[in-house]
Formats: sequence, structure tokens, C-alpha cells
Amino acid sequence: MKLIEHFVNGKIIPGSSDKKGKVFNPATGEQESEVRLASRSDLDSAVEVAKKAFENWSLKPALQRARIIFKFKELIEKNSDELTKLIVSEHGKVYEDARGSLTRGLEVVEFSCGIPHLLKGEFSENVGTNVDSWSIRQPLGVVAGITPFNFPAMVPMWMFPIAIACGNTFILKPSEKDPSCAIRLAELLSEAGLPDGVFNVINGDKEAVDAILENKDIIAVSFVGSTPIAKYIYENSAKNEKRVQALGGAKNHLVVMPDCDLDGAVNGLMGAAYGSAGERCMAQSVAVAVGDIGDELVSRLSKKAEALKVGPGIDKSSEMGPLVTKEHLEKVISYVDLGVEEGAKLVVDGRGLKLQGYENGFYIGGCLFDHVNKDMRIYKEEIFGPVLSVVRVKTFEEAAKLINDHEYGNGVSIYTRDGDAGRTFASKIQVGMVGINVPIPVPMAFHSFGGWKRSLFGDSGMHGMEGIKFYTKLKTVTSRWPSGVRSNAEFVMPTMK
Ligand code: NAD
Repeated sequence: MKLIEHFVNGKIIPGSSDKKGKVFNPATGEQESEVRLASRSDLDSAVEVAKKAFENWSLKPALQRARIIFKFKELIEKNSDELTKLIVSEHGKVYEDARGSLTRGLEVVEFSCGIPHLLKGEFSENVGTNVDSWSIRQPLGVVAGITPFNFPAMVPMWMFPIAIACGNTFILKPSEKDPSCAIRLAELLSEAGLPDGVFNVINGDKEAVDAILENKDIIAVSFVGSTPIAKYIYENSAKNEKRVQALGGAKNHLVVMPDCDLDGAVNGLMGAAYGSAGERCMAQSVAVAVGDIGDELVSRLSKKAEALKVGPGIDKSSEMGPLVTKEHLEKVISYVDLGVEEGAKLVVDGRGLKLQGYENGFYIGGCLFDHVNKDMRIYKEEIFGPVLSVVRVKTFEEAAKLINDHEYGNGVSIYTRDGDAGRTFASKIQVGMVGINVPIPVPMAFHSFGGWKRSLFGDSGMHGMEGIKFYTKLKTVTSRWPSGVRSNAEFVMPTMK
């Protein structure tokens, strides 16, 4: 059986630990490979390598770093089919969706190619007589990224292209459920000319994560995953004096106003709720039906949810693939059971789906609940599967209060033709990423991605200028070149006369 190892100092290296994880193909349910899980000493050795590589990499002119990133961009394009198939084979999502997620990662690489411009500082001439002042941003050192299973290429690419373009060196700890893509990206970076040790992949579980959090030479940690782990990462990074951004889970609402283009809202909801089998932090898992639109909304949604084409991700006709693991499938099924117990109306039941030829795959059909209320656990908790809940409210204000009271605040959307409602919604809603007649409002690479409330712990989002700030520290220089008589010692605060 194939064994997926670590990638350190420009090559694949065997880890020192005997601990291994299982990697499945969710479409068939078969185990396809094993992944080495790092020990603390594996992580510490990789950090030593990255620390050494930082000495030269951080001194390289930004333009030279950008050229390597540009070459990497070309290599991703050239190898996109192979990378996409790796995502499909270990995650399960459908091919075009996997390719789309790779493209969204690629856009961050494209953004990072502009690093000489992005790192330009600020300069003020004559802040005092013959005194100039300027600010520059310098790299931090060794930084680490810990990433979830649901975007094995895109989420790491939210982090490392910017981090290394800024002059840092990087340790990536990908999800142990689908680790192959990270290793392939590391190989492509080497092929692009990235010096050894600048980008390293350490596979592992909690032991590797704890080693990252406790290693004194790792200056900053970027995390994306579930909320309980995000909180743990945030607290322990801070305890160990690290800079940290920790993005967590979500429960996203799509508000359907009575005046909206209902076909647009239904199509938007179908893609946003069932795309990637609901395994997206920006999935719309709650439809909020305002006024009297509920019956018609549920009727149209149920027809489409029943007709969803579920199948292996590699089959180009599939609209939705399997879930990532058997355990996750069981968890999602147990949430559907719970919704029925809690009294919600299960309009479309995707449980028990078996596909001919793929009987052991981790499949569930699309599920649709109506008459869900705010006290139910299926409303409050993140299910992370193809389960859409419809909550009915009377007014726009009630919809907004529902969303603002929720513990998560990642993404949200409103479908309406009323500009006033759209504008008020965007202004007042307590959520980090807002869509108006757009179902999944994921910001582009040159803007920044990040939720509010318990969907993000820390001060900065990912990529865009937030990424540049996160991966650099600010230095401000004040300078004077005196000629002639030197001034005497001054014991008062210097101010402008
Ligand atoms: P997860 O929290 O289980 O795992 C994320 C990472 O943390 C993995 O690398 C994993 O190895 C590590 N980890 C898991 N348990 C740990 C523990 N006890 N101690 C230390 N490290 C641990 O998340 P997941 O299941 O891989 O991904 C799905 C979750 O990620 C969902 O909650 C989803 O909403 C969230 N997510 C959020 C965003 C966002 O931008 N906010 C994006 C993608 C995914």
C-alpha cells in the first residue's frame, strides 16, 4: 500500500514515527494509502530546516521571489488535471468543483506574484526639519499552516503563497484525511525553483499540531478547521506568544425575500447547500423564508433535491459526490435522525442511498428539512453535509435577528429585488462575508476571507492585504543626516515647532 511521507528540505523524507493514518477513496470506500503521522521530533527537525532556509530566502529581493511564484503558477496550470484528480480521489468532491477550488487557490498565487508592489512601504519626507520617516514590512521567520480536509489545495494556498512571497519559510500540516495534494504542491514549488527548506509539509494529527503550537521558533500560526479546534489553536498559540489567525466552523443563512427572483434563489440554494456535499464552510445550510414564500420555496427545492445526481466525483455527470469518510457519513446521518426526532419535517430524505457498483462508498442523497426552528440542534450546530434546513419567519427584521443571534458568522446571503433591503442587510448583519443575490460570497484573492463571531478567532482574515499584514511585521524608521554642529541632548518629547 502507498505510504505518504513528509516533504522537508526539498525532498520526501520518511518520518521517525511508526504511527500511520488511513486514507480512503470516498467514492469506493476503499483504503488507498497510508499517511505517516509525525512525531514531535519530526516537526522540530523540519522547523530547524525552515529556520536555516529563512536566512537566505528572506534576503532575496521580492522580485526574485515573485518570479519563482510565477513559475509555480505556470506549473499548477500545467498539472491542474493531476492535482484535481488527487483532490477527487481523496476528498470525493466532483471533478469540476475540485478544479474550481484549485483555481481559487491559484488566484492567491497570482495575487502573490505582485509581491514587490504589495510590500512597498510608506515614506514621509520632512516629518521634522530634515527628518524623514518610512515604514516597511519585513517577514516574520518560520510560520505554520494547519488545514482542514475540505479544501486540500485551496485552503493551504490561501496561506503559503503569500507567506513565502513575503519572505517567510513555511511548515504545512495538512489534513490527514487527504494529504497527497499538499505533497504534490511541495514538489511543484521545488520544480519552480523554490530553495530547499522554504516550504515543508509535515503530515500528522494532534501530536504534530501540538508540536507546532509549542515550538518556540514558529512565529505565527494560520489555522482553518472546526470551531472547537480553532479555539484551541488560538488559545495555545497565544499562550506560546505566537501570532495567530484561526478560522472555524459555520452555519450560513440564505434569506429568501418574497420579492426575489425565486428561480435564482432556488438555483443558488441548490448549489450552495448541496455542492461539495455540503462540506464547505461557506455552504448555505439554512434557507430563511420570509413572509409567504415558504410553501413555494420548499416545493421547488424538494423537486430539485430529489433529482440531484449523486455519484463518484470522477464521473463528469455527477452533481454531488460522497462524504469524506465513513465516520463523517454516520455523523451526518445521525443529524438527519435527530432532526426528525426534534420535530422538523423531513421533506427529502437522502439516507440509505446505495449506488450500484459503489455500494461501499460514503454516499448520502440531498436532505431537505422544513419547519426547522431556532431551538433545534440541527439549526444550531454545523452538520457539514448535504442537509438544508428551511426556517420560516414573518419579516425581514425577524430574519436579521435570527442570523445576528447565531453563534457563527461566516457567510450569509439575501435574495431580493429591493435595494433598500439589500443595503440595510449588508450594513447591519453581524456576519463577515455577505452576498446580495450571490449564493456563496467567497471574496476574491485580492480581497480577504474571514468570518465573524465564533467563525474566526484572531484579528485578521486570509489572503488579500490581511494576508500581507499577517505574514509581515511593521518597522518604522525615522532618520536624520546632520551636517555641521550636532545638537545637544534633549530631555523633552520632540514636537513640531
Ligand atoms: P478539524 O478541525 O477536524 O481539522 C482541522 C485540522 O486540525 C486538521 O489538520 C486536523 O489534523 C487538526 N486537528 C483535528 N483535531 C485536532 C485536535 N484535537 N487537536 C489539534 N489538531 C487537531 O476540521 P475538518 O473536519 O478537517 O474540516 C471541517 C471544518 O473546517 C468545518 O468545521 C468547516 O466549517 C471548517 N472550515 C472552515 C473554513 C473557514 O474559512 N472558516 C474553511 C474550511 C473549513
